[in-house]
Amino acid sequence: MALSNGEEKTEDYLFKIVLVGDSGVGKSNLLARFARDEFYPNSKSTIGVEFQTQKMDINGKEVKAQIWDTAGQERFRAVTSAYYRGAVGALLVYDISRRLTFDSIDRWLNELHTHSDMNIVMILVGNKSDLKDAREVTTAEGTALAEAQGLFFMETSALDSSNVAAAFETVVKEIYNILSRKVM
Ligand code: GDP
Ligand code: MG
Repeated sequence: MALSNGEEKTEDYLFKIVLVGDSGVGKSNLLARFARDEFYPNSKSTIGVEFQTQKMDINGKEVKAQIWDTAGQERFRAVTSAYYRGAVGALLVYDISRRLTFDSIDRWLNELHTHSDMNIVMILVGNKSDLKDAREVTTAEGTALAEAQGLFFMETSALDSSNVAAAFETVVKEIYNILSRKVM
């Protein structure tokens, strides 16, 4: 937007991003690592925040990601439609050391398709990549599911930080790119 003194105003972007996936896959720790660079070895509901706003630099613009965490609702399969409302991005998280959590991704995808916008940007996230000896889901399986469903894909570790920022940034960058194509 052009101001009277001829300066360009920096646009303020705020994107709602939701974390979904089974209980225990590491959603709260991914958020804690990304937003506060913290990790909780024995986390339970204690670290549940409703959402956290994180400033990000995307192509030189300041973008705010408002990242929502289920804070335990998912344990009772009671994630409400309000949780998804207005979300433009989602991280679908499973635990590479627990196959059941990977099998649940289909159900979370259905939830997202039911409750959110058609154009929501999604990334499939195989978390706990540090647990090499306990791996139950191969990288190839993650890649294949992501390709079949048209999702981005990354393996992360909230414990050793690997790919955590990259996973969030992939989603936010794509949303930003879609938006700037529409505006221009
Ligand atoms: P949520 O229920 O999906 O929010 O999962 P939490 O973030 O509460 O994590 C569940 C448990 O997994 C906790 O004991 C965490 O310390 C652990 N955890 C989370 N992320 C990782 C990770 O990347 N690697 C390992 N080894 N443990 C993790
Ligand atoms: Mg949690």
